[in-house]
Amino acid sequence: MIKKLKKSEMKQYEKILINERQKLLKELAYESDQIAKTQIETSGDLSAYSNHMADQGTETERREITSQILSTRREALFEIDLALRKISEGRYGFCERCGKPIAKRRLKFLPQARLCIKCSSK
Ligand SMILES: [Zn+2]
Repeated sequence: MIKKLKKSEMKQYEKILINERQKLLKELAYESDQIAKTQIETSGDLSAYSNHMADQGTETERREITSQILSTRREALFEIDLALRKISEGRYGFCERCGKPIAKRRLKFLPQARLCIKCSSK
């Protein structure tokens, strides 16, 4: 039987989550900045565009990868926000599917986990 989290433990996870959130926000800001820059570069130089049609392909690919990273980060941010809200409401650390407490091992590895190991592996 897994014990539910103590208040002090919740505070610990809250700290981890807030740290993680700040890191993500910084990365998001940096990557959005990079995307904005490459967009200005490509739209500003039309001659380079026609001369380097081959490069254009890899450029598009690169931008696709970046936007994929961005959406992954946004998702993670969403999960973290959700976990932080749960902490403030005192219902953090429970599985959303079966309602049982999530193992601390798992929360240490993934503090924003919404499901217990059993449910997430189903
Ligand atoms: Zn579960």
